Formats: sequence, structure tokens, C-alpha cells
Amino acid sequence: MIAATCHCGAVTVEVPKPPGAVEVKECNCSICRRTGAVLAYYSPREVRVSGATDTYMWGDRMIEFHRCKVCGNFTHWSPVDRSRDRMGVNIRLMPPELTADIRILKFDGANTWTVTGERRGL
Ligand SMILES: [Zn+2]
Repeated sequence: MIAATCHCGAVTVEVPKPPGAVEVKECNCSICRRTGAVLAYYSPREVRVSGATDTYMWGDRMIEFHRCKVCGNFTHWSPVDRSRDRMGVNIRLMPPELTADIRILKFDGANTWTVTGERRGL
């Protein structure tokens, strides 16, 4: 398992594969551009979250944005509808050597909802 850990260490998100082995997106939507998160996508069934989080929702309230109750780092989002098989984990909380040279898709979540380019590494 690969661990994404918040700054204070209270919250850990464990994923089965490194971010270089899954889809990773950097999004410019109203929340992602503010948090600066870069997200790797996994099935909620294969991810283990430990530690207390606060959540934030808005708009159609389809997903919960989780942040550490202690240090406030944005850790992941998860679907409110638990039958949805996708969640996003913030790779900025993963060890730097796992994110240094991976493919990151630029996603235009603000307007067109399409991939507009890519870059390598955080
Ligand atoms: Zn924390």
C-alpha cells in the first residue's frame, strides 16, 4: 500500500497502486484551483482512510471533500453515493519520489470538462 499523509500525521489515505500507475489529473475547477490539489483516482473499495476528517460539499452535493480536522490539509474526495466506484486522492500528500516524474493530465473542470494537456511531475 502507498500512503498519503497529511502534514500533522492524523489522517492517512492508503492506496493500492502508486500514482504513476493510475489516472492523475490537475483540475482548474472552483475548488481545485484553490486547494492546489492534484488527484489520483481509485475505487473506494481499494482505499483505506484512517483519522478524523471534516467534510465540505456544495452545488449538487454529489461528493464530499475531506480535510484533516487538525492541520486542515485536503486529503481526498469521496462520492456521497457509495455505489459510485471512484474517488480522488490528493497526491501532494504522497512521498515526493512517487510523484516526481509521473504523467499529470490537465483537466478543464471550470468550463469544458475535457483534458486540455499534460505535464510531468509535481
Ligand atoms: Zn493533519
